[in-house]
Amino acid sequence: MDKKQLWKNLGIEPKERFISLSEHASSVIVDPHMPIERYYRSGVEMVRYADMHMEDENYESAYTLYMKFITLFVDKITKHPKYESVPVQMKETNRRTLRIAFTKAEQLKKQLLHQYEADLDKYVEDLKEKERIEKEQLRQEELRRQKEEEERRNKMAALVAVKAAKAALSANVLPEETKSKSFPVVPPVKPVISPSNDNDKMYNFKDMKTPIVDRSTKPSLLLSDGSSLRDVILSNKLMRNFLTLAFSNTMNNKETCGILAGKLERHKLLVTHLLIPEQTGTPDSCTTHNEEDIFDYQDQHNLITLGWIHTHPTQTAFLSSVDLHTHCAYQLLMAEAIAIVCAPKYDETGFFVLTPDYGLDFIANCRESGFHPHPTEPPLYTNAKHCKLDAMAPIEVVDLRRK
Ligand SMILES: [Zn+2]
Ligand SMILES: [Zn+2]
Repeated sequence: MDKKQLWKNLGIEPKERFISLSEHASSVIVDPHMPIERYYRSGVEMVRYADMHMEDENYESAYTLYMKFITLFVDKITKHPKYESVPVQMKETNRRTLRIAFTKAEQLKKQLLHQYEADLDKYVEDLKEKERIEKEQLRQEELRRQKEEEERRNKMAALVAVKAAKAALSANVLPEETKSKSFPVVPPVKPVISPSNDNDKMYNFKDMKTPIVDRSTKPSLLLSDGSSLRDVILSNKLMRNFLTLAFSNTMNNKETCGILAGKLERHKLLVTHLLIPEQTGTPDSCTTHNEEDIFDYQDQHNLITLGWIHTHPTQTAFLSSVDLHTHCAYQLLMAEAIAIVCAPKYDETGFFVLTPDYGLDFIANCRESGFHPHPTEPPLYTNAKHCKLDAMAPIEVVDLRRK
């Protein structure tokens, strides 16, 4: 197999590597059932999230997001049945963002190709270094083997000499002149070499500091395609604060809901804000109003949406069919988005996600609305294992309800 083919198989051939990243970036599907405004709103968050990745130096993820944005708004969105009805202003803002995204994606493309070349050089160098070390080890091994063989021969020779001397003595057949001489009569042999004498330098190669080949610098075979979820970090105080401001609704048997917003920092998603939108609650539902207030606040504070939280005043912590559909919209945009359900009556808190391999797709394709039955097997949702509580994490609660 030639080198180029080997690199391709390892997924480290720079151009191939870039192509497969781009292919992932262009896999955007527009669902004609999804309100088109939601796509435009998602676009704002996509670019914001891409910018966060740039700051966090996750260039592959940043490139992927800019390219997804470009693919979505240059091509795919025009196939949406409501495309013509999008307000001119919204399209104009989107076009401006597209120009910026193009420029950034172009720069990133160059940068990533350079990085991939450098990764490959490093890989080849590491490989050479590894070969060099292996050769050196083999050479030392051979030297040691030769030394052992020599020792063995010496020992044998000494043994043979002693035996011969003993035999001669007992048979008393030594010639006169030999008899008169004092013992020992062992013929001179080379001294037996002990591994612990000054031949040490032949042996201490084992202690030789072997240069370590850093495996972590080998180009990752996994492209940053979100196949493993980033941790979502949130404060324990978030649930407490939320239940406090929901208290009167809960007493009146009405649900309360809030939006989890935050940022990307050092590869983790931090929930820094709990936003409470204008809303109306019933015992088993909660509807938000004036969502622009939430969008404006997020735009001003550069926040991305990381999920939502709501109460179940009298029921346990689970996701109802309506909750599943609500959450689907969150998770389609952000794979890590979580749904928190607080059930104060049962002192329960659930942290949920749709199962990425089944539930997400199932709900995205379910055309029913209102409360309706879903099959329970396989499970449509599960506990969000990537959600981590941190008592030290800060949380800001912003109540946007117009009282
Ligand atoms: Zn619910
Ligand atoms: Zn459904």
